[in-house]
Amino acid sequence: MYEVVDQLIAKGYSDICIERYVHKEESRGYQDEDEYWTAVARNPAGAPVRVSAEKHTGFSPGAVPAYLEVGSDQPISEEDYDGVRAEKGIADTDEYRRQLAARLGREESIRRERAAATAKLNQIRPACPACSRQMVPRSGLRGWFWGCDSFPKCRGTKNMSGHAQSLLKRGAS
Ligand SMILES: [Zn+2]
Repeated sequence: MYEVVDQLIAKGYSDICIERYVHKEESRGYQDEDEYWTAVARNPAGAPVRVSAEKHTGFSPGAVPAYLEVGSDQPISEEDYDGVRAEKGIADTDEYRRQLAARLGREESIRRERAAATAKLNQIRPACPACSRQMVPRSGLRGWFWGCDSFPKCRGTKNMSGHAQSLLKRGAS
């Protein structure tokens, strides 16, 4: 499973939830193992997708050589994504990414990714509906939202999308 999550992260996916996992062992004169996954995730553009992966391991001479293939992704609705996420949870948590970085010695790329997440978040900062100033992330009793930069003079607020909240989390160090 880690290999699949690693591959998806390497391909730029985030908020990865393993939806289904099937493990099949076959004996056809030699020992074979097949593993099938489907996962939902956000693609590099932030859109929810479903992606499938297949890993094959052949143990004896004459068996099909080992491979891991990640298929192309299919767009899904935010509702479908949220449903799987609520049930399965996120596999590529911050802790997971830290362990991965330690494994691969990739702290630098994590920093770049954080900077990229923050830059993306800046690009989607909305204008205040009351005074048109740029809004900033704020947290309150009901979680994160956009608040006017000139609070408390201006009390304009806007809801923050799940995608923006995800970027905010990924940009935090
Ligand atoms: Zn305002």
